[in-house]
Amino acid sequence: MSDAQLFRATIFHTAADPFHDAGALRSHADGGLLVRDGRIIACGGFDEVRRTDAEATVVDWRGGVVLPGFVDAHVHFPQLRIIGRLGRSLLDWLEQAALPEEARMADVVYATDTAVRFVSALAAHGTTTALVFGAHFAAATASLFDAAAVAGLRIISGLVLSDRFVPSALRQTVESAYRDSSELIRRFHRGGRLLYAVTPRFALSTSDAMLEMCQSLVGEHDGLRVQSHINEDRDEIRKVAEAFPWARNYTDVYDRFRLTGARAVLAHNVHATDAELERLAATRTAIAHCPSSNAALGSGIFPLRRHIDAGVRVALGTDVGGGTGIGMMKEGLQAYLMQRVAPDGEVLDAARILYLSTLAGAEALGLAHDIGSFCPGKAADFVYLKPPAGGVLDAVLQRASGVEEVLTALFTLGGSESVSEVRVEGSVVFQHDGR
Ligand SMILES: [Zn+2]
Repeated sequence: MSDAQLFRATIFHTAADPFHDAGALRSHADGGLLVRDGRIIACGGFDEVRRTDAEATVVDWRGGVVLPGFVDAHVHFPQLRIIGRLGRSLLDWLEQAALPEEARMADVVYATDTAVRFVSALAAHGTTTALVFGAHFAAATASLFDAAAVAGLRIISGLVLSDRFVPSALRQTVESAYRDSSELIRRFHRGGRLLYAVTPRFALSTSDAMLEMCQSLVGEHDGLRVQSHINEDRDEIRKVAEAFPWARNYTDVYDRFRLTGARAVLAHNVHATDAELERLAATRTAIAHCPSSNAALGSGIFPLRRHIDAGVRVALGTDVGGGTGIGMMKEGLQAYLMQRVAPDGEVLDAARILYLSTLAGAEALGLAHDIGSFCPGKAADFVYLKPPAGGVLDAVLQRASGVEEVLTALFTLGGSESVSEVRVEGSVVFQHDGR
């Protein structure tokens, strides 16, 4: 008797980067995903996979679609409750909307409640892995890690660091930031599915000394990630130039303290110079593209083609609460829409949208050996999509004649109501009631 499970559904994943490999998309109209002990044993046409293990228990999800779990490469848990504060630009929005809510995270009860809601919202939208900005407070950041551990999601997060620009309640000293970060790393880094990311809020809110401390942390512990923001808004960029008169550009600020590199994910980069793109590519630094946020805050249109041409790695992030929601399908659609109206935009086909929402994030986070696609040996992190019967997406999928149409319809119309079940390493982390 086999203890494996064989999931039968329409299956899509990207086995490679479709911006560089035209054959990256794998699609199986009647597909099989064979899972044992939380790992993927095989993925392909159902009959073919069935032959590799005739004893496996079949889970019949025909009529639905299975995708790799979504990877959100940039999101802020303390901002869950301020989604939708429209009409402001970055610095005004930070002052009026984001930072006052961030200050409420000093209340650990409020922070814990927000963390629990945030993590369950990720799972309910099919996001199995996320790089998350914690809070400016250690206890609140710990509450996110605790909530993630209970929920079973892969969360990379860290204490948000600032010692200038933000209100005094959100500032740390370099010494307290070092002490609190070190303690959080000791408690949570590499605990189960959790990893720690050194998280200077952005250049404007951190002094040279704070960035130097970030560099020390990265040097003292193996496997840490780094996350921050870069080149989001023109006013912000002007202020960063004033704050760091020695820096040639925004990238140079982080680069000076070795906070660029293969383990670093910087959000936005809407207004990057060619010299910066060259440096980001050379250091293998990844950019988290957040199209909803860029539009909502009027930050600008992301130059995706320039990033691709320069060889800069790009993933996708919702950037809640600057962004407009937790769902990565909606974010994939927004990336497509922004590129359609961008001067010199890329037309994102189904493969590229799926890649940006899954494998690209895994690559940016240094986790592509383990997640992001259905290649054998990887962890069985996946989302089962089954749109509500009688709804618009259901009607569209019944009419769809090609696999590309199914995938682009999912990204166009799919929300949390279409997420039926979500698994991480084969274990259920979300199940929709009543379907
Ligand atoms: Zn952000």
